[in-house]
Amino acid sequence: MAANGIEKAEEAGGLACTDVTPEGFLFDMGGHVIFSHYQYFDELLDTAVGSGKDAWNTLERVSYVWLKNRWVAYPFQNNISALDKEDQIRCLAGCVEAKVANAVAQGKPANFDEWILRVMGPGIADLFMRPYNFKVWAVPTTLMQCEWLGERVATVDVERAINNVIHNKEDAGWGPNAVFRFPTEGGTGGIWKAVAALLPAERQRYGPAQTVTSIDKAAKTVTFRDGRKLAYDTLISTIPLDISLGWLGRDDLAKGLQYSSTHIVGIGIRGKCPHGLKCWLYFPEDDCPFYRTTVFSHYAAKNCPEGGSKLPTLCLANGEDPASGEATEGPYWSLMFEISESQYKPVSMKDTKLGGSAGTWPEIVRETLIGAINTKLVEAGSEIVSIYHRRLEHGYPTPSVGRDAVLKQALPELKAAGIWSRGRFGSYKYEVANQDHSLMLGVESVDNILFGTQELTLEYPNIVNPRK
Ligand SMILES: Cc1cc2nc3c(=O)[nH]c(=O)nc-3n(C[C@H](O)[C@H](O)[C@H](O)COP(=O)(O)OP(=O)(O)OC[C@H]3O[C@@H](n4cnc5c(N)ncnc54)[C@H](O)[C@@H]3O)c2cc1C
Repeated sequence: MAANGIEKAEEAGGLACTDVTPEGFLFDMGGHVIFSHYQYFDELLDTAVGSGKDAWNTLERVSYVWLKNRWVAYPFQNNISALDKEDQIRCLAGCVEAKVANAVAQGKPANFDEWILRVMGPGIADLFMRPYNFKVWAVPTTLMQCEWLGERVATVDVERAINNVIHNKEDAGWGPNAVFRFPTEGGTGGIWKAVAALLPAERQRYGPAQTVTSIDKAAKTVTFRDGRKLAYDTLISTIPLDISLGWLGRDDLAKGLQYSSTHIVGIGIRGKCPHGLKCWLYFPEDDCPFYRTTVFSHYAAKNCPEGGSKLPTLCLANGEDPASGEATEGPYWSLMFEISESQYKPVSMKDTKLGGSAGTWPEIVRETLIGAINTKLVEAGSEIVSIYHRRLEHGYPTPSVGRDAVLKQALPELKAAGIWSRGRFGSYKYEVANQDHSLMLGVESVDNILFGTQELTLEYPNIVNPRK
């Protein structure tokens, strides 16, 4: 059986690709951390990228929440001691209240908001979980389901939370997964270019001409944007399911699926990074538009140009003109911001002129710079030497209340017609939409096509995800 891969972008990677700015800063499409549940995935990455220190940096997960003008270590519920006394009382009282209510609760929570209340109580819900999750998903928590979080409602460890407050202790414990790995060069996208290089080049087609514009399931053909057609026996599609369902005349199902868009803003800054070992940071409040920031220069030295290379300052972080437009040496560091967008949470793309030679950018870039100053990530006078912005139309597949009913009907219907719709947006299950899951959704679909093997990742996220 011969297989061909078709991709409308110029190279492999999809949402896990890496872009390079003209100044030489690398930016992933948001913080991509490898947390593998599969030996197959780990071995594939070692085969493609190599193993050991030349290929990978090993990083300790150092993560904080920015709240009320201070850093609170993550996980939030174990670090209530960092809050003001009044907030500590509200959070702890809420945890106790939740534990008691959860012990006698009947049935499952009806939506994500109820889940939050049952797990964490109203204190943490109002201070962190509700505002943070709205910033991430761009959908009210009441409109989201909670099946994707697993069968059980795992309550906060109240004793640990109280203990940490009384002993005024920072507790950033991440259990056995306290470290993660990141490629020494090429960013996350480098991984997938290396994986693609393992496959026969003549069977991979890239570029805008490979954009599929429709699928005819009766004729078993896909049509490209120039009108060319390609016949298939079996199709594995990573095209967002809401789009392919529309092509197949199932708008009724497509409208039951929701997604949010994601803006990635990157900035390259002159100077020494002031954030130590911090990896990624969460921002629940409205003093900035982003929900998460990654100190991307910390992940790999090659994510920034070498310190000796000369770059002019484009503008200052507050958007004003720099003192000079002359190119001077580094060192350099970088920040990568993620901002969500939906009908509930619009983002301004209005052209906005920044000072110096920075040029014109969407308004969200200026808002991000101001947010970075508000949250003390940079100073007003920090020298910005590179700016990056990209909008991903499909960023997060929303675990909406109606999602599962649509998937239960749509995926088998497509499969019966020879179309295995799989991947982050192909099968639309956020709980199995990371890189390891998406790869295995592909691997397992091939096994299913060839041997009838069960697709464990698609069918049983609750079995796959607890695996370390
Ligand atoms: C903001 C953000 C943060 C993330 N963080 C993490 C993380 O920390 N850890 C992690 O493991 N994963 C993370 N991910 C998820 C990771 O990017 C995905 O798991 C992975 O990219 C999914 O691969 P995929 O092939 O299923 O889908 P995609 O990456 O969406 O690939 C689908 C491909 O299909 C192509 N395509 C679509 N339509 C057409 C068409 N009509 N014609 C031709 N080609 C088409 C697209 O160009 C794309 O390349 C994150 C994703 C985002 C957006």
